[in-house]
Amino acid sequence: MEITSETQPQEKVSSEVPAAEKQRWTLNDFDIGKPLGRGKFGHVYLAREKKSNHIVAIKVLFKIQLRQSQFENQLRREIEIQSHLHHPNILRLYGYFYDHKRAYLILEYAAKGELYKELQKCKFFSEKRAATYVASLARALIYCHGKHVIHRDIKPENLLIGPQGELKIADFGWSVHTFNRRRTMCGTLDYLSPEMIESIEHDASVDIWSLGVLCYEFLYGVSPFEAKEHSDTCRRILQVDLKFPTKPIVSSAAKDLISQMLMKDSCQRLPLHKLLEHPWIIQNAEPCGIYKDLCKG
Ligand code: AMP
Repeated sequence: MEITSETQPQEKVSSEVPAAEKQRWTLNDFDIGKPLGRGKFGHVYLAREKKSNHIVAIKVLFKIQLRQSQFENQLRREIEIQSHLHHPNILRLYGYFYDHKRAYLILEYAAKGELYKELQKCKFFSEKRAATYVASLARALIYCHGKHVIHRDIKPENLLIGPQGELKIADFGWSVHTFNRRRTMCGTLDYLSPEMIESIEHDASVDIWSLGVLCYEFLYGVSPFEAKEHSDTCRRILQVDLKFPTKPIVSSAAKDLISQMLMKDSCQRLPLHKLLEHPWIIQNAEPCGIYKDLCKG
């Protein structure tokens, strides 16, 4: 069963409500089904909310591991941010609860699984598929940035595919609410912007850079600044050592868009609303953001 806007479970908890007044979810509210995957801090299960029959994914995190890895604050931030984001290309976080050992996140179920597995299977995506995904991510990021949220960790591993084939940004572990420019170094090396590598102030335009890296990886199957040693990846990013392989064949319009996103000077990066008007996006992206033919690249 798919969740629609009418059938989403009621949020019993909200981060603004003081703990004593919250009507909390408990594990008894759910029938737990098959495991969907395993993350760093626990497991994810398919689950059905008993009263409404709604299908969700429940992420179970062990508190002791969160504490040992000093991940508690990051999780709090992730919950705070993700529970307030409502966009078709952002995975919903419906609520959370905990017992003395575990924390449980109630998430929208992304029926078609992980994007990076699709990319591994296909090696690289067609321009139509890549453009559809890039446009839907641009729309989701415009929405986030409008709420002063920068994601800072856009990469294939953080993207899931919904029941219709639509992309869902799934992990807000590194995201921040920002009204100021930030200096923290975070995220995965291959996708880091020059200013994050240099730990200088950064703003929402770091997400434009990561989206450019992602677009390249969709089309070529490898990330643009990949190198054996971390120090070489950093050097290549700082020099914007961007090369376009001859194979697979990629249109010059796609290369033009990537080059406009991967500008060292963050002010020069193509703004996301302009990206949506780029000829490559106009010609290739499915307007509804849905790419159905998953096995066809
Ligand atoms: P994570 O702990 O977020 O890395 O999740 C571990 C794995 O569980 C992911 O790689 C996915 O395969 C799966 N998974 C996580 N969340 C969901 C979801 N909302 N819907 C479907 N599968 C999920």
